[in-house]
Amino acid sequence: MEYDFTDRTVLVTGSGRGMGKAAAEKFAENGASVVVNDLDAEVAESTAAEIRATGADAIGVGADVSDEAEVAAMVETAADEFGTVDVLLNNAGVGDAGPFLDEQYDDTFQLNLDVHLHGSLNCIREVVDGMVEQGYGKIVNTTSIHTKNAVGMSPAYDVGKFSLLGLTKSLALELGREGIRVNAVAPGWADTRMTDEFSDAVTEQILDNNPLGRFADPEDVANAMVFLASPAGDYINGHELRVDGGQVPIDSWRLDN
Ligand code: ADP
Repeated sequence: MEYDFTDRTVLVTGSGRGMGKAAAEKFAENGASVVVNDLDAEVAESTAAEIRATGADAIGVGADVSDEAEVAAMVETAADEFGTVDVLLNNAGVGDAGPFLDEQYDDTFQLNLDVHLHGSLNCIREVVDGMVEQGYGKIVNTTSIHTKNAVGMSPAYDVGKFSLLGLTKSLALELGREGIRVNAVAPGWADTRMTDEFSDAVTEQILDNNPLGRFADPEDVANAMVFLASPAGDYINGHELRVDGGQVPIDSWRLDN
């Protein structure tokens, strides 16, 4: 019962693939009606179709979380279909990063802030009134191993994720008074598209510094997201839960080395 999401509507951004998809599936397994969002409308719809095939309720909505109008339309669609959003998982993310001295750093900073900070803010803004009205809500934000200690050569990603952690902690203080818990899950390096692109040298460096000696499975991370959003996590607020196998942060390396 503790993980029961019956009659709950859960919106998971960036859930067409990877950790978001694993979370969307797990919410659905536990009784939720799920709104599967992704920038890529096709993967959003195919993930939703897979969930529906299990007998659960799900819709896929293609939307860019950094676009206010698209987010507003998405939440309206969610409301028409399933009513108030009870749980929001801000998971949409970009892996784009590079050294500060790289000529592209302006664009990279903008993209990371647009998606991680403003994208999350846009979604929270659209769902928060419904949560306040019913005196209950759960917001979970996906931060990163990068918030344990900055990871060299990716300042834009570090800043994007640190800003999301700041938002998490600050909103937890204010929205907790309205019955809304705001927490974060900080995945370590997980077996997703991002790590697929790592060179053998980078992979070896990461795994040498991981006590468990493996990347996270998307399900490992999804378990923590579902826990925080569930009634079992009702007294947890403003917390960042690390799901990184005890990973020792790596100080200075290049994703493309
Ligand atoms: P991970 O699972 O490691 O976080 P992925 O790249 O597999 O990484 O998943 C992140 C998801 O977020 C992708 O499916 C991607 O399309 C989605 N995404 C990226 N940017 C946006 C955006 N602006 N709006 C909505 N979804 C986004």
